[in-house]
Amino acid sequence: MDDCIFCKIVRGEIPSEKVYEDDQVLAFLDLSQVTKGHTLVIPKKHARNVFDLPPETAAELFRRIPKIANALKTAFPLEGMNILNNNEEIASQTVFHCHIHLIPRYSKKDDFGLIWKDNSDTYDEEEFKKRAEAIREQLKYT
Ligand code: 5GP
Ligand code: ZN
Repeated sequence: MDDCIFCKIVRGEIPSEKVYEDDQVLAFLDLSQVTKGHTLVIPKKHARNVFDLPPETAAELFRRIPKIANALKTAFPLEGMNILNNNEEIASQTVFHCHIHLIPRYSKKDDFGLIWKDNSDTYDEEEFKKRAEAIREQLKYT
């Protein structure tokens, strides 16, 4: 994609601090460094996000992640890591070339956070079944 920032990074047209590269996948430091070592892992082949990611590309992308995550774990004194993928604007995607964030976590008070409300107190068995059925119908799974 001509005007995609991450495709430009892949082609070397704009600079990036690369930490891993092979024929299919590139990993480089996220400019924002939400926490120290914050890294993006991308497929070299353009896909907008998970909704148009070919399964083979997804497999190749994800199979590199444990190795890169472990490199961060060894390089920095992190205590954990959030692995995050934003899809579409509503979900905070700002660059429309599929990417996985590796965000090292150093403490509960570092610069990363998630709002994750637990609605289990409103559990409704019928509604639960309806939701699962809607998904199963699309997957043709019984
Ligand atoms: P998103 O919000 O789409 O999940 O994440 C996009 C990420 O790309 C942001 O965290 C942002 O800091 C990072 N980013 C945007 N432009 C550049 C760039 O030119 N170089 C690098 N290294 N990161 C970028
Ligand atoms: Zn792209």
